[in-house]
Amino acid sequence: MSESYYELLGVSRDASAENIKKAYRKLAMKYHPDRNPDDKEAEAKFKEAAEAYEVLSDLQKRQIYDTYGKEGLRSSGYSGPGNNDDIFSHINDMFGDIFGFGGRSRQRDPNAPVQGDDLRYDIQISFMDAVHGVNREVEITKKETCLTCDGTGSRPGYRPETCPSCHGRGQVVRSQGFFQVSTTCPQCHGAGQVIKEPCNDCHGSGLVNKSKTVNIRIPAGVDTGSRMRLSGEGEGGRRGGQSGDLYVIIHVEEHEYFQRDGQLIYLSLPVPMVQAALGCEVDVPTIHGTTKLKIPAGTQSGDRFTLRKEGVPSLRGGGKGDMIVEAQVKTPVKLTKQQKELLKDFDEMSKEREEEGFFARLFHTHISKQKKKADKTDKVANG
Ligand SMILES: [Zn+2]
Ligand SMILES: [Zn+2]
Repeated sequence: MSESYYELLGVSRDASAENIKKAYRKLAMKYHPDRNPDDKEAEAKFKEAAEAYEVLSDLQKRQIYDTYGKEGLRSSGYSGPGNNDDIFSHINDMFGDIFGFGGRSRQRDPNAPVQGDDLRYDIQISFMDAVHGVNREVEITKKETCLTCDGTGSRPGYRPETCPSCHGRGQVVRSQGFFQVSTTCPQCHGAGQVIKEPCNDCHGSGLVNKSKTVNIRIPAGVDTGSRMRLSGEGEGGRRGGQSGDLYVIIHVEEHEYFQRDGQLIYLSLPVPMVQAALGCEVDVPTIHGTTKLKIPAGTQSGDRFTLRKEGVPSLRGGGKGDMIVEAQVKTPVKLTKQQKELLKDFDEMSKEREEEGFFARLFHTHISKQKKKADKTDKVANG
């Protein structure tokens, strides 16, 4: 099986939980063994889809799969493909009382509360917001328990009635030749009960679409991939079931100057050549403001300086990380005539001092050679 789980379900890699569920429902309905008896191909497709959904519907498994693929799931201890029992119990959880696929491996209590689904919300925040924390209000459209019927699906004053066809069992028994075959009740679709008087607001589903403003308090120190769980902010439950949870996945934008590795902040600091040679004190921007940094005389490109506690705060409140400043010595460009003369004088003086080692001498000689095309070539050949 070379197709990715996303391809199997026919969804994009950034598909929402809702769309993944929809895509899976469609496939599961189409290929369900109850609808395709003795069709090996349908059965294989059904299992593949179930496996894909099992992974993509679980935030943790989906993250592992996105990062490490199927191998990652296996090494994380999640059971691999082909476990029939898992697949069917999981299908029952999802469809048992909605589509009537229940009852294959266990009977559901048709009146049992059903917990709401978890939701995933991806949020993009700026580099500085991630470092300092931020409050965000976001509007989320989700299914909430219908308040009119309290999630029962029946008009107020009415109750769902026991299905007359299956007497509440959700299954009906049919004779097929010598065998008795038990199938999902066509009247109640396995729910065991029928809603005679559907609620006007939710049309019997017990859930209504609602937009809700959720305040997300993002703590200082989060990074891309940080995950927050907002308990009870997922989709509403039915028949008294609890709401699911809302998972907020953080994506942090890059910064123009700062780079980050966990709690460490890196900054590449341009230092003019002369200051690098003579030493100086500069104001360095940090994620918290600015701070003074002493650049010692003789600083080279790539030299690093550590500023303690100028990094990112710990998510768990363990203080701030450090900041690493890396010097980038800048060679001056667009020199005036006078500046050029000064540098040439400087060069001559440096040569006279002859204390910069073999490579420096070699380099000076090379320049002189170009300039004068003169007698110093021998010095290189011999030296
Ligand atoms: Zn309702
Ligand atoms: Zn029935």
